Amino acid sequence: MTSKPAYQNMQLQPIAGQWRVGSAGRNLNVTNPFTGEQLLSVAMATREDLDEAYRQAQKAQIEWAAMGPTARGDVMRRAVAIFDERRDEIIDWLIRESGSTRIKAQIEWGSARAITQEAASLPGRCHGRILPSDMPGKESRVYRAPLGVVGVISPWNFPLHLSARSVSPALALGNAVVIKPASDTPVTGGLLLARIFEEAGLPAGVLSVVVGAGSDIGDAFVEHPVPAFISFTGSTPVGRNIGRIAAGGEHLKHVALELGGNSPFVVLADADVDAAVNAAVVGKFLHQGQICMAINRIIVEQPLLEEFTRRFVERVKALPYGDPSKAETVVGPVINAKQLVGLKDKVRIAQQEGAVLLVGGEPQGNVMPPHVFSNVSADMELAREEIFGPLVGIQTARDAQHALELANSTEYGLSSAVFTRDIARGVAFAQGIRAGMTHINDMPVNDEPNAPFGGEKNSGLGRFNGDWAIEEFTTDQWITVQHAPRPYPF
Ligand code: NAD
Repeated sequence: MTSKPAYQNMQLQPIAGQWRVGSAGRNLNVTNPFTGEQLLSVAMATREDLDEAYRQAQKAQIEWAAMGPTARGDVMRRAVAIFDERRDEIIDWLIRESGSTRIKAQIEWGSARAITQEAASLPGRCHGRILPSDMPGKESRVYRAPLGVVGVISPWNFPLHLSARSVSPALALGNAVVIKPASDTPVTGGLLLARIFEEAGLPAGVLSVVVGAGSDIGDAFVEHPVPAFISFTGSTPVGRNIGRIAAGGEHLKHVALELGGNSPFVVLADADVDAAVNAAVVGKFLHQGQICMAINRIIVEQPLLEEFTRRFVERVKALPYGDPSKAETVVGPVINAKQLVGLKDKVRIAQQEGAVLLVGGEPQGNVMPPHVFSNVSADMELAREEIFGPLVGIQTARDAQHALELANSTEYGLSSAVFTRDIARGVAFAQGIRAGMTHINDMPVNDEPNAPFGGEKNSGLGRFNGDWAIEEFTTDQWITVQHAPRPYPF
């Protein structure tokens, strides 16, 4: 329990070291996806506000990077302590702003805290190298330096963690950061983190947050000459456009793109069915299926199809849905009415295409009850596209080879899972899947602060967490020293 007063004035944004309103003269109304209650109204930022934030970040970064690794690590450690002290406040915001169930909000709080704790160790782990040189008298050094200013764009589904997993390591490694949170989640996607880091002693101006629609300030956010790196987490179409601008615009810059997924969940004929069903229920319905790693396709080898389907359906029918603040609720609201309309379309199209609805129900407000379809084939929309909601289809595989072909028949390659009692077979199967992450005898939803997180194919570029964050948020400079006169050829 926190004994501290809650953070106040959450409608203000930290822009270039000042907590103030955006200058757009237009407000973003933030609502609770379950109750529809307006939580706050934020005056949106303009391109000029963004420019101010980036320019100040560029100045502030120099002093921040010059602070020693222990001092930067200390800010992270204090931030972790604040995560603990303000646990209830943070979880409450996640429930109210992003429609997180209490279970998911607690997990997300834990992930954001853990990545910040990991970040505390990064300044001390970041080092250069001395290389052997063929040149007589030459010392060949590789220095590792911060990139400078990093722009972070995050989505609404795990707003706190998906901002924190870039912000905490980037700051710890000596960069300054500007965040553009998603319009549905400005508080949990940015403003809360800025309050936490300010309270932890981060110098003013090193972290700014600009609240504005991607369509208004998105291009300017990426094109601006100051940021050397754009860390984007969101959908594949938006990410592709960002990659294009960052690599093909006037100011070239690095990008990390963490994009959509279409995780296969494969149950081979020798699997432990109970374990597979337990994993499938959580891997599909945690946060209403609005997770990039969530199970998108269940692929079951023929001999287990009937048993798996029967037990899975039994479990799904019993899942409590509704008010996300209740401890027992498993399926809460989807983020907004637009998302709900898209999901209702998916249900309609699945039935038109011949999928059989085994579990369903009418939405209540933004809460869509869990849906399960059988008789799904690889060419149906339900299998081809990212669902991002509490719906799932079951496909049948003739054998393990067919299961692998089905698993790979997607443009995405983020996470994946396979169930088998034969671990060697599971590892061989995993190695056959073109994805950044594969979990044997577990759900595809896994994220640990020291393990590489990221996707292949249209799921993105780059890896987060641990040593991989050092690679992403720093750059190498080769510096040589010629100690003795060099024998030039002419
Ligand atoms: P989105 O792409 O619509 O939005 C993500 C962010 O991009 C938001 O902050 C949005 O305001 C911003 N944006 C939109 N248009 C922009 C533009 N033109 N320029 C710059 N920024 C712009 O995605 P979403 O609906 O918020 O999130 C859901 C998607 O994110 C899903 O596809 C999901 O799989 C993906 N996702 C991926 C990961 C991962 O780690 N790979 C994690 C979570 C979510």
